[in-house]
Amino acid sequence: MSTKRDYYEILGVSRTASSDELRKAYRQLALKYHPDRNPGDASAEAIFKEVNEAYSVLSDEQKRAVYDQYGHAGLDGRGGADPGDIFSHFQDLFSEFFGGASSGRGRAAQRRGADVRVQERLSLKDAVLGCKREITVRAPAPCESCDGSGAARGTGRRNCTLCGGAGQVSTARGFVMFTQTCPRCRGQGSVVESPCDKCKGSGEQERTRKVTVTFPAGIDSGQRLRVAGQGMPGPAGAPPGDLYVDVELEPDPVFERDQNDLLIRLPISYTQAVLGARVPVQLLDGSVLEIDVPAGAQPNDVLTFKGKGVPRVDGRGRGALHAVVQVQIPRKISSKARQLLLQLEEELLPLNEPTSAKRVAP
Ligand SMILES: [Zn+2]
Ligand SMILES: [Zn+2]
Repeated sequence: MSTKRDYYEILGVSRTASSDELRKAYRQLALKYHPDRNPGDASAEAIFKEVNEAYSVLSDEQKRAVYDQYGHAGLDGRGGADPGDIFSHFQDLFSEFFGGASSGRGRAAQRRGADVRVQERLSLKDAVLGCKREITVRAPAPCESCDGSGAARGTGRRNCTLCGGAGQVSTARGFVMFTQTCPRCRGQGSVVESPCDKCKGSGEQERTRKVTVTFPAGIDSGQRLRVAGQGMPGPAGAPPGDLYVDVELEPDPVFERDQNDLLIRLPISYTQAVLGARVPVQLLDGSVLEIDVPAGAQPNDVLTFKGKGVPRVDGRGRGALHAVVQVQIPRKISSKARQLLLQLEEELLPLNEPTSAKRVAP
C-alpha cells in the first residue's frame, strides 16, 4: 500500500541498531542534507525530511516498536515528524556537539559561523560610480570531514578525565582554591576519542570562499559594509556569520575627495586667466563638464558646481565639484613669445605703475 522507504534503510542502519547508532547515522545524514547546505536543492530537502521522519520514529521506543511490528501502516497519522520535532532533534545534536554546554533552544539557536572582516581598496571612480567586486574570504570554518566536532569519523567525544567534564580544574594552595580553565579539554569538558586527521582534532579548517559584494555609489574610506550571511558557515548546519568589508579608497591622480565634494585643480594659462576661457574637464563618469573661467580669474579662485560631486550613499543627491584655478607660468618660451610678452608688459605698464609706486613710497 505504501511506497514509503523503510526507515532503517533511509538511515542506513540495521534493524537491531542501538539508539547510539541511530543517532550517529541520523546526525551524518541530517548534516549532509540540511537545507542550509543545499540551498535550492529540492531532492536534498526531500531526503532531509525523510531522514527526520525516520529518526523521529526510530528514536522513540514506542513508535519504533509499532513500526517494527506493523511497518508504516502501524504509524498512519502519527509517523510524520512535525517541524517542532525536527528542530528539537537538531538542538539535541548541537548540545552533544559542543560538550553539552548549550542546553535548550535559546543558546543553541544563537550559534553561528564566524564573522569575517576583510579590507578592500577601491579606486575613486569605483567608489563614485558604485561597483561589484568578487572578494576572496579566507577564514577558519568548521572542518568538513568531521563537521566541526574534531573527532574522526565514527568516533565521538568522551568526558575529559582531567576535569571530569566540568571544563574547569581547581587546585588548592593553602586555604585558597584556584580555579582555571581545564588545560586538557580547553574548557569544553570533553575531548575527542580519536582526532579527525583532516583538522588534527581542532574541528576547524582554513577555507576560502568567494563572495560578490556590491559597493554602493558614494561609499568612502573608513566605511564598513556588512554583508549578512556571507561570513563562514556555521558548525553543524548552523547559520553562517556575516562578512564585514572595510573600505579604503586609493588616491586619485586628478580628483581629491572631501566627503561628498570633489576638488580638481584647473590649470590655465596666463592669457586664459586674463581673457577668460572655456575649459573642458572629464568627470569620473566619463562625461565632460565645460567650465567657464571668467575673465580676470585669479590663482586659487574656486569655481563651484553643485550636484557634480560624489553621490550620497543614501541616494539623496550629490555633493559639489570645486575647480581651483591654477595659473601656469611657462618655464621656457620662444623668442617670438618673449617679444610679444615684452610688448604686452609695455602695454600693461601704466596699469601696474600705481602698485609699484605704492610699494616704493614711504
Ligand atoms: Zn575534522
Ligand atoms: Zn577537561
